[in-house]
Amino acid sequence: MADRFVIFGVPIDKVTMKKAVDIVENFLLEDRLHIVATPNAEIVMMAQNDDEYKEILNKTDLNVPDGSGVIFASKIYKEELPERVAGFDLMMELIKIASLKHYKIYLLGAKADVVKGAYLNLKSRYQGIDIVGFHDGYFSEIDEEEIINDINEKKTDLLFVALGAPKQEKWIYKNRNKLNAKVAIGVGGSFDVIAGKVTRAPEIYRKLGLEWFYRLMKEPWRYKRMMALPRFAMKVLFSKKSV
Ligand code: UDP
Repeated sequence: MADRFVIFGVPIDKVTMKKAVDIVENFLLEDRLHIVATPNAEIVMMAQNDDEYKEILNKTDLNVPDGSGVIFASKIYKEELPERVAGFDLMMELIKIASLKHYKIYLLGAKADVVKGAYLNLKSRYQGIDIVGFHDGYFSEIDEEEIINDINEKKTDLLFVALGAPKQEKWIYKNRNKLNAKVAIGVGGSFDVIAGKVTRAPEIYRKLGLEWFYRLMKEPWRYKRMMALPRFAMKVLFSKKSV
């Protein structure tokens, strides 16, 4: 396992996209569930007021650096994370590999029309893709057993869970002993992007580390949640000063 950068109690693996993909490919060869999370500044800040979430993020098998905020923090701490590995990009890389190697994929989360749209778009875009099932993310506890049975019966290798943070990681962790998939990864709003409901920031924003700004313009109602970003930056600068 690669070296980790720990920021405010949340470990992040010092991996490039290529390394992260290699690690997940190895996970797929082992017969047990591996949990992958994609911590960004917002998630690290959520974990500050949520011990359960922080503990879960310490028990995952791989945490990729999803966001310019955590890259910035690693630079300040001189423990540089090599590059940003966005959850969405990791998902798409894994889909490519799964399509080539015929790993079984299951999509869980988002609204019913969104997850169906994501399923249809992926099927038409990737030859050889094997999506064995999908289910929306608005289910009750009563439906949970049925969903988990479906995931297991279909011999899922790669389970993408799009319930938003922290719900998705908590759901995966709570059900870790029931799920027979090889890899479960929380992918936030990725199904909305794949289904074409939400557009991702153009590359120039991503390259400049300004994806958050694009998102703020597009979805201004998220501003409250996004206040976590400047709070994170301040916390990094102040904590660094006091070490
Ligand atoms: N979602 C869900 N069930 C819930 C709450 C949210 O399936 O109970 C879905 C929601 O429809 C959306 C995704 O989870 O597709 C969350 O997206 P968001 O962009 O808020 O997540 P983030 O990437 O910020 O964690």
